[in-house]
Amino acid sequence: MAYTAWAEELKQHFDETVSWRRYLHEHPEPSFEEKETAHYILEKLTSFGIEDIQTDIGNGYGLVAKITGAHPGPTIALRADFDALRIHEEAAVSFKSKNDGFMHACGHDGHTASLLSVAKVIVKHKDELHGNVVLIHQNAEEVLPGGAKSMVEAGVLEDVDYVFGIHLDSLQEVGKVFYNYSFGSANSDMFKLTIQGKGGHGAAPHDTHDALTIGTQIVTSLQQVVSRITDPVKPAVLTIAGFEAGGEAYNIIADTATIKGSVRTMQHDVQDLIEQKLHSVSTHIAEAFEATLDLNYDRGYPSIQNDPVEVEKLKQRFTQTFGEDQVEEIGGSMGGEDFAYFLKEKPGAFFRVGAKVPEDDAPYPHHHPKFKIHEDSLLRSGEVFLSIIEEYLG
Ligand SMILES: [Zn+2]
Ligand SMILES: [Zn+2]
Repeated sequence: MAYTAWAEELKQHFDETVSWRRYLHEHPEPSFEEKETAHYILEKLTSFGIEDIQTDIGNGYGLVAKITGAHPGPTIALRADFDALRIHEEAAVSFKSKNDGFMHACGHDGHTASLLSVAKVIVKHKDELHGNVVLIHQNAEEVLPGGAKSMVEAGVLEDVDYVFGIHLDSLQEVGKVFYNYSFGSANSDMFKLTIQGKGGHGAAPHDTHDALTIGTQIVTSLQQVVSRITDPVKPAVLTIAGFEAGGEAYNIIADTATIKGSVRTMQHDVQDLIEQKLHSVSTHIAEAFEATLDLNYDRGYPSIQNDPVEVEKLKQRFTQTFGEDQVEEIGGSMGGEDFAYFLKEKPGAFFRVGAKVPEDDAPYPHHHPKFKIHEDSLLRSGEVFLSIIEEYLG
């Protein structure tokens, strides 16, 4: 069987895969500035003998490589993101970030290395493929507007039939594969409310419209949007993350106040409802106390919608390949992920691969300065990609 031979080769060059990941880890570059990272990926892909490579796709340094199979069949795209975060690394690893202030704290170094390892194996076996593999190395997942949307707009999925991606998960058992039949991530929106009141002397409140107290009422009332207005079986989060009003003085009533926060939802009707309620609740409170209100609501990445048919197919294949105890259903995350744009265009799925370091009782979450992954997760990620190739092109 093809998969067994491919997976064996993947294992044979696993040390090399780890060395790529460690190199990337030592040289992180933040979103939209991953020039050297893209160059490193291009060098590797070229060294494997892949010729059909496009660079600088979309709004940054995204790359796409195509491996054309010998036999006709569908085309599947496999995606790995490659940007790092603006975080100063505190993890105790020998291959610590050499670019101070930047860190691969989400595992995108691992995604990249495992997709490269798959490319290296599969290009040697293109004669066995009934169809084609498109490798999408995506820039800038972490920062809006992200790289995915622009890559889709540049046409990377035009000849693609299915698209798949994985994300490592530092909190889940290493090597386990997690699937989800519907929403894999949330619509991730941001908002800013600006309240314009009328400031004045702290001893003469009747001459003012206190933006600070109006703001606190808005903060309190917004807590009722999710608890009392949205349908409890449809997930939603409304988080107020910042409140600014007033200054240093003890006797000045605030002229303006700003409130910042984020809204996470899965279904679009809930997203619409929350945006509308944010506006109406805040405006009515501001108006009642004679202030004016400005709402800036920015829709970020949409929610990931996995295709249940493809998920079911692959769940069965993973179970056969990795064993029943290695494959598990998982609830969607309220995090944002721009892989959603690929799935808006073509059917496919996004899986999570456990990467917890077993001896860590309290592992650090993604985006933490002490974030770590177990590198065996890179091998399993590669195996996941290979078994997807086997399923569709074998
Ligand atoms: Zn992240
Ligand atoms: Zn990530």
